Amino acid sequence: MSLTGKRALVTGATSGIGLAIAKALAQAGARVMINGFGDAAQVAAAQAEAGGALYHGADMSKPGEIAAMMAAAHEQLGGVDILVNNAGIQFVAPVEEFPPEKWDAILAINLSSAFHTTRAAVPGMKAAGWGRIINTASAHSLVASPFKSAYVAAKHGMAGFTKAIALEVAEHGITANCISPGYVWTPLVEKQIPDTMAARKLTREQVIEDVLLKAQPTKQFVTVEQVAALALFLCSDAASQITGANMTMDGGWTAA
Ligand code: NAD
Repeated sequence: MSLTGKRALVTGATSGIGLAIAKALAQAGARVMINGFGDAAQVAAAQAEAGGALYHGADMSKPGEIAAMMAAAHEQLGGVDILVNNAGIQFVAPVEEFPPEKWDAILAINLSSAFHTTRAAVPGMKAAGWGRIINTASAHSLVASPFKSAYVAAKHGMAGFTKAIALEVAEHGITANCISPGYVWTPLVEKQIPDTMAARKLTREQVIEDVLLKAQPTKQFVTVEQVAALALFLCSDAASQITGANMTMDGGWTAA
């Protein structure tokens, strides 16, 4: 499939799933702008991996910085045909110990940022009569796990937001879908292991085997390349009638 001539913005693409998606879109011919945190070396490496992508370091918890990123995408990239809302963080704690500032940050980064980017990208997509909005949700957009109240709330919200947008833009050649992975081995998963060990009083091995992979009937992590391949498919003409969908890639987790 060729995405030559298409312009893609991928948030949270200095690492993990976002980087893999940016790379796949660039390999298919799209011009890409990536966003995300990291030191200069990490950012430069991600830009190189994503075909010499442009970069904007907007903090996805800050609407003003998101607006600046969308303006930069229009100026430097020429517009946004493919918007991938992928930036996300996690925090694991019982609700009574959950720091309110962590709740606010997760809702802002994992959910509200998609509203701020989408509202800025839709007018250009409507004018072009073509667009793809791909939101990285999670199995946690469909089912819950204890100690992840903010994340589960934000991801359920992302699934609902995606459906509403899909209906609004359906007659303009624009699709909006969620990809909902189960556990993908990325820094986000690795970082939550110590907190899960503490919250559930388990060893590292027990968290991996009895908490993470326990949820996935295949007993295997999803790979970032598999998620990226699905994102690429959603950009194709073959996927033009897939909209408002929540596409799981979770080793059977949410089938149970
Ligand atoms: P990751 O930690 O490897 O990547 C997260 C990216 O988001 C990084 O580029 C990071 O710099 C960026 N980011 C974090 N806070 C930001 C902020 N305030 N502003 C801008 N960028 C910010 O994690 P990942 O696993 O690749 O996660 C990507 C997405 O996939 C997230 O939305 C996550 O919830 C979702 N997800 C991950 C898994 C998994 O198992 N790894 C499963 C389901 C869904």
